[in-house]
Amino acid sequence: MSNASEDTTPLGETELHAFAAALDAREAALEGEVRDVNAVDQADREGFAGVAPDLVDVAEHRRGEDMRHAERERDELELAEIGAARLRMAEGVYGQCTDCGEPIARARLQAQPWAARCIDCQEQHERVHGHAVPIVATGADNR
Ligand SMILES: [Zn+2]
Repeated sequence: MSNASEDTTPLGETELHAFAAALDAREAALEGEVRDVNAVDQADREGFAGVAPDLVDVAEHRRGEDMRHAERERDELELAEIGAARLRMAEGVYGQCTDCGEPIARARLQAQPWAARCIDCQEQHERVHGHAVPIVATGADNR
């Protein structure tokens, strides 16, 4: 009762709804971000066309573009994780670690409603695969 981060009692329906709403909100925010990035990209390209830029501008332009692309990639990755979390919700396995099947601590879900793994498995996963790896199953589960 004292340590909220260790709280792994099953999620109630009200809580599931709250997590579903959190996923919706996060998804909407991310979709807005991707739209914004795309709009800047578009405006950048159009503003760039037809002018004779000097090399500094070109370098600047490329940097901005790279940053936007990295940002979009992160956003899209997170959107995929949110989609996967929704599927788990539909299947009734939301809040269970996809690796070990143990319940994911409530505090972790509250911080990251799309979390697919318990903290132990996530750390293990990042040790093996590095950070920012898509949650999508590859089917290549070689030992
Ligand atoms: Zn686990």
